[in-house]
Amino acid sequence: MRDERQAALEVIASEVRACTQCRLHETRTLAVPGEGDPDTEVVFVGEGPGMNEDREGRPFVGRAGGMLVRLLGSIGWQRNDVFITNVVKCRPPGNRDPEADEIVACAPYLHRQLEVLDPAVVVTLGRFSMQAFIPGARIGQVHGTTHPVDPETGAAGALAFAMYHPAAALRSSGVEQTSFEDVARVPSVLLRARELRAGSPEPAVTTAAPPTVATTPASPPRPETPAAVAAEPVPDDASQLTLF
Ligand code: URA
Ligand code: SF4
Repeated sequence: MRDERQAALEVIASEVRACTQCRLHETRTLAVPGEGDPDTEVVFVGEGPGMNEDREGRPFVGRAGGMLVRLLGSIGWQRNDVFITNVVKCRPPGNRDPEADEIVACAPYLHRQLEVLDPAVVVTLGRFSMQAFIPGARIGQVHGTTHPVDPETGAAGALAFAMYHPAAALRSSGVEQTSFEDVARVPSVLLRARELRAGSPEPAVTTAAPPTVATTPASPPRPETPAAVAAEPVPDDASQLTLF
């Protein structure tokens, strides 16, 4: 399965690298398909590549990427434990916002990536990603909360968890602090998502509840990967969900 998913993701990435479906291809250096663990249960979706990403062809490798890595590190995760991609795969010139027709043109790639990855949790980073998964939401209201994902996005049965964009955390210490608080909830959101996928009847929408997993003592050894969070108290059958 892992090899099949990796191969399917590589097919999508190859198409992205050659894509001319919207005007952003004219000004890009390299398209940025996304990268990460093909077996992950958690996908992080940003907005679009910046200057460094455009040069390297990899997501979140600049300053915002450094912040994302620190946020992940605060819950004991590394960037290669998850999958990281963007709503648009080519850099908007001058880092302007992506335009609606560009997001629409690029959406099939994200959709296909999510179908292959079949994540339990989609963490949205910033407004544009949030809008794709939680239509009509406002970031100031929904950050730190979970919402069922419309299967139309490709992530059927997943929970979306909204966060501020890491670049916003770089600009404001208040947003930075909020982002660390929000990311601390991701492991418990993952447990909840597993339960839902295992057929628990409770509603999926939650508002801020204290993190349970993230604050547990670090011994026995901290979960090293999202999949390893199964070591925390969840029903036995829920941990099997990682098998897809
Ligand atoms: N900002 C994003 O939204 N995505 C990246 O890949 C880098 C910066
Ligand atoms: Fe293609 Fe997406 Fe790049 Fe536009 S942003 S050219 S749709 S890969």
